[in-house]
Order: sequence, then C-alpha cells, then structure tokens
Amino acid sequence: MPLARWGRSGGKDGTRETEALAGRAACYDGSPKPDLDFRRFLRVVMPTPTLHVSQHPAVLHKLAILRDVNTEPKKFREVVRELSWLLGYEALADVAVRPLEIRTPLEPMTAHELGERIGLVPILRAGLGMVDAMLELMPTAQGWHLGLFRDERTLSPVEYYNKLPDSATVDLCLILDPMLATGGSATAAIEVLKKWGAVTPVRIKLINLIAAPEGVAQVQAAHPDVEIHCAALDRSLNEKGYIQPGLGDAGDRQFGTGRSD
Ligand code: URA
Repeated sequence: MPLARWGRSGGKDGTRETEALAGRAACYDGSPKPDLDFRRFLRVVMPTPTLHVSQHPAVLHKLAILRDVNTEPKKFREVVRELSWLLGYEALADVAVRPLEIRTPLEPMTAHELGERIGLVPILRAGLGMVDAMLELMPTAQGWHLGLFRDERTLSPVEYYNKLPDSATVDLCLILDPMLATGGSATAAIEVLKKWGAVTPVRIKLINLIAAPEGVAQVQAAHPDVEIHCAALDRSLNEKGYIQPGLGDAGDRQFGTGRSD
C-alpha cells in the first residue's frame, strides 16, 4: 500500500507532475488505485512551485484524527492547533533571521532572531483555532482578524469584519483558514491584503489544513505570487462546496455547532 507522498519526492525527474502523469501518484488517501479525475486536476494544479503539501508523518497522523467523524470538538481543536504549528513551522522555513548577541551560561555568542515582521490574518471563524499555535511559534507576530462568510447560495465570500490597521506594517502575512475549498474566501482575503498594501516586498502565504484542487487552481490563477501550505490536497468539492473527503465544516467541528443532537 503506497503512502500518501506528495511534493518533493516526485517522479522520475523528481517533479510532482511527472509522478502524477506516470500514474504513480499516491492518491490523497494512500489508495493504490490512481484516481483519474484527481490526476487531471494535478496537471492543472501541480505545475507551479507555490503549492506545498506537507509530507511529514506527524502531519499525516494528526490529519487522520482531524478527519475522523468521531473526533469530538475538544480533540478536534487540539489537533487543529497541533497541525497549525507543524504547518507554520514549514511555512516559516524561508523567513529571514538577523544576528542577535546573547550570552550562554558559558560565553557570549551570536545567535539569531526572526528578522521579518509577521502578520497573522485568521479568517473568521474557523481560522481562529490556528492562531494560538502560530503565536507560540512567532510570539512577536501581530494578529488581525478578517471576517468572511460564504454565501451558501452563491458560495461567494462576503466581508463582514475587517480589523486590519490603516497601512501594511509587516513583511509577511500568513492567512489562516483550515479549508481551501472554492478559493473564493482565500482570493478575497488576498485581494483585501494587497489593496491594504501587502504587495511586494510584503509576502503573503496561505496556511490551510486541507485544500481542494479547485481552490488551489483559483488562488494560483489569480495570485501566482502567493504560496500555499497545506497538510493535504483532497479529491474535489461536492455540490455544496464541501471538500471531499475533507473533514466537514471546520468551524462547526471546532465549536460544536451544526449538530442536531
Ligand atoms: N469550509 C469547511 O469548513 N469545510 C469544507 O469542506 C469547505 C469549506
């Protein structure tokens, strides 16, 4: 049974696309049978280097707990936090550091500190569960909230809350949203940030727990400069805009809403 291996391992020439096209791509769930539709999406989605699907075994392990329908909100929130930490760790791998003079108990030395100002932009409400982990990783990050809800009829994002300061005061913005589904909210959030001033040299990265090929394709088409870090690239969206196999509604599962019992 092949393991779910995306990304850097790649096919014969080491790229993800060739692995997909050769039909040797592990499916999103590690199934040995290549999913033809999924492979078609891969050709659309994968040829850019801006999508990073984590390969880490700890991420895969926690993802299974997150997806499981029997995982209760308390455990779900815990795993959202842990996964966010792991994805944040990967997403920050290229952040600049600057020298910092410190003293160990033995001698002075030149250490490092984060050299970039980082802004966290959780998309309300599901993105809230990702903030604490990010602040643990980057205690000096600033946190701003952006409220976007998805109109259930049109599936388009509607902005209802915006707590960004007057001008961009950071070098790197991390948009936090557990699910990259249609890409509507992500694209809207990126547009809000760019209008606000988060343009080159300010970088924007999207941190999602699960992405759908449709959402990735939309973000990549509209904002090829934005990197996407996620724990999984799933198969598709259903007619209601939910990611399949996904995990259901990330907000409801964190906050215990949407249940009839
Ligand atoms: N938002 C969610 O919470 N879940 C999905 O599957 C898609 C969008």
